Amino acid sequence: MPDHECPSCGCPLAELLAESSHVVSDGRVAYRRCVCGKWLVEINGSLVGTAGLRSA
Ligand SMILES: [Zn+2]
Repeated sequence: MPDHECPSCGCPLAELLAESSHVVSDGRVAYRRCVCGKWLVEINGSLVGTAGLRSA
């Protein structure tokens, strides 16, 4: 139920630093990079999706 953890590895978002955030018309969007390599996209503190930008 909680969408405050990475859907891939279950790492809690609270443990991850927000790498960037900005204000858009819908609210505040933040991107966090998980330890598993996923980018987690939050809007207003709720996880709305991931972006799998694998750099390795
Ligand atoms: Zn993860």
